Amino acid sequence: MKVTEHINNANGNTLFSFEILPPLKGQNVQSIFDNIDPLMEFKPPFIDVTYHREEYVYKELDNGLLQKKVVKKRPGTVGICAAIQNKYHVDAIPHILCGGFTKEDTENFLIDLDFLGIDNVMALRGDAVKTETYFKAEKEGHHYAGELVTQISDLNKGTYLDEDLLNSSCTNFCVGVAAYPEKHMEAPSLDSDIHFLKKKIKNGAQYIVTQMFFDNNRYFEFVEKCRKEGITVPIIPGLKPIATKKQLNLIPHRFHVDLPEDLILEVVKCQDNEHVRQLGIEWCVQQSKELQKAGIPVLHYYSMGKSDNIKAIASQVF
Ligand SMILES: Cc1cc2nc3c(=O)[nH]c(=O)nc-3n(C[C@H](O)[C@H](O)[C@H](O)COP(=O)(O)OP(=O)(O)OC[C@H]3O[C@@H](n4cnc5c(N)ncnc54)[C@H](O)[C@@H]3O)c2cc1C
Repeated sequence: MKVTEHINNANGNTLFSFEILPPLKGQNVQSIFDNIDPLMEFKPPFIDVTYHREEYVYKELDNGLLQKKVVKKRPGTVGICAAIQNKYHVDAIPHILCGGFTKEDTENFLIDLDFLGIDNVMALRGDAVKTETYFKAEKEGHHYAGELVTQISDLNKGTYLDEDLLNSSCTNFCVGVAAYPEKHMEAPSLDSDIHFLKKKIKNGAQYIVTQMFFDNNRYFEFVEKCRKEGITVPIIPGLKPIATKKQLNLIPHRFHVDLPEDLILEVVKCQDNEHVRQLGIEWCVQQSKELQKAGIPVLHYYSMGKSDNIKAIASQVF
């Protein structure tokens, strides 16, 4: 079922959903099930599975020269989605990127998803590969998520890359896209970012999931701005409980979001990471309850491979 249908069927109740990462290469799917099992009691209507593009690693050879290798550390997004749908009968949402994909790769990826009975996809640009500063599209790939959304919308109309295909069947994907209440790191302004977000919706995206934030006011202000610009689709908040002291620096660095002063002061006071974890849970429960009270249709949690924090939060909120 589509995310938008899940929201419509919820009759105003706030739904619980979460995102998982495929396991590192070499681990098995049981590690994913071990993560999901404790969260099933909160009846997630859908579970997102991230996509991880290739990375370049350099291996030193015996002669001292460096050999460049392309590796995918977390493959398996599609397989895990299929396994989730099969085991839990819950909609799995694969993330799909512009980065590392040609349009042809994208089309073939979407055909696989369609055959597997996957109804939703999260369309993203992806970041630059770690060894480069700026995102670079494949020669025959998309530069922005908006273009990827257009390709998915075209496939939903039965328009494939090969225009000579006859009697081609239409897919029926519901497309989600990302948004940043505190602005995407590359956007020159929040207004500019929202302008391009609106384009993604115009190209066919039906819902939005936000980057994590730790101050609900940032989310509420962002939603208000989007609504003023005529964006009417659901804007699902993404939430992550802080769990270690190190994350005080790591989260702003990696995700380009601010932490509220009150939260920083409390984290600094914590004696150890167990206290930070407890604080992170309490903070996220407060955020969740306020969002729930405001009638937000879905709260989406970034589990980052750890379900115990999310379970502790969900059991106090749902
Ligand atoms: C909910 C969520 C899930 C994510 N999941 C993953 C994942 O699974 N795997 C992964 O690798 N990354 C993931 N990311 C990270 C994401 O790939 C990065 O944040 C990436 O840098 C931007 O992706 P986007 O889809 O928002 O890009 P876009 O919407 O393409 O925007 C990228 C930048 O370009 C600007 N822009 C957009 N369109 C245009 C245009 N036509 N002309 C000029 N400028 C434009 C925007 O303002 C923005 O600054 C996720 C992020 C979020 C919020």
